[in-house]
Amino acid sequence: MSLKEIRNPKILQQEMARLRDRRIVIGFVPTMGALHRGHGALISRARRESEIVVVSIFVNPTQFGPREDYRRYPRPVAQDRKLLLSHEVDYLFQPSVRAMYPEGFATTVEVGGDGQRFSLSNVLCGQFRPGHFRGVATIVTKLFHLVGPCRAYFGAKDYQQSVIVRRLIKDLNLDIQLRVLPTVREKDGLAISSRNHSLNPKERERARTLSGTLFWLRDEIRLGRRNLAGLHRQAFERLRRGVDRVDYLEIVDPESLCRLTKVQPKMVALTACHVGKTRLIDNVIIRLFKKD
Ligand code: AMP
Repeated sequence: MSLKEIRNPKILQQEMARLRDRRIVIGFVPTMGALHRGHGALISRARRESEIVVVSIFVNPTQFGPREDYRRYPRPVAQDRKLLLSHEVDYLFQPSVRAMYPEGFATTVEVGGDGQRFSLSNVLCGQFRPGHFRGVATIVTKLFHLVGPCRAYFGAKDYQQSVIVRRLIKDLNLDIQLRVLPTVREKDGLAISSRNHSLNPKERERARTLSGTLFWLRDEIRLGRRNLAGLHRQAFERLRRGVDRVDYLEIVDPESLCRLTKVQPKMVALTACHVGKTRLIDNVIIRLFKKD
C-alpha cells in the first residue's frame, strides 16, 4: 500500500472507524515533523506491531509560548514524506491549524491544574513553559480521538510528556496501549532532535554537555556515590560551564516526578538548557541494580 495523505480530521476519523470495524490493529505515532532517526525508531516499532501505521505531522501552536520557536520550527515536508515512504507508513495525517482549532475553540485538557502547587504539568519543563503541557495534552487527546489506535508510540526523549500521556490515558479511560521507546542518540551522545539543526558547529559541540553530564551523573551513582545534593551541585556546575543557560537539572521519581533527596532503585535525571537560541532537553533513567 502507498502512503495515503489526509488533511481533513473528519475524513481521517471515518476511515479509522472503518478499519476498527474490521478489527484492524492501528499503530499511531504523533509527531511535529522534521522527522529523524528518533521518529524512525518509533515508526519501525509501530510497523512491526500493527497492520496499519498512522503518523501525524502537526506543529501544534498551543504548546508553544509567545516567545518560543513556533514560526521557526522546521517544516521539511518533502523530506518527511520520503522517510514515511521508506518506513512503509500507511497514513499521514497532516491537518491545518484551523481544522484542529476551529473558530471559537474553547476546550482544553490538563493533567493536573495550574492551581495545584505540584502537578505533573507544572514541574520541570512546565515551570519554564507555562501552558505547554496543556497544549500537549489537548492535542494528544484530540489526535487519539481521531485515530482511535490500539497502540500509541512516544519517545523517552520527552520524558515528562510520556508520563503525562500515561496519566491522561489512565484518567480518561482511553483504550490505548502506550509504548515509550528509548532516546535515539548521535554517536557522541547528543539526543537527536529536530531542533539540533539550528545549532551552529560551536553550539553543536557544546550541546554534548547535556548528555555528557547526565551520563556522568548516572555513572557516579552506579559507582556508589549516594549524596544526591552534592552530585547535583557538581553536575549543575558542569552544565553551567558548557551551555549558555540551565533551566533546570533534577533527579526525580520516574512516575510522580517528585524531586528525590535520597537514591532509590529507579530514578530519572532530567535537564533543559539553552545553547545559543536553542533550548535542548535530555534525560537518563538511572537504575541502581541493572545495567542499561
Ligand atoms: P516531536 O516531533 O519532537 O514532537 O516528537 C514526536 C515523538 O518522537 C515524541 O514522542 C518524541 O518523544 C519522539 N522523539 C523525538 N526525538 C526522539 C529521539 N531522539 N529518540 C526517541 N524518540 C524521539
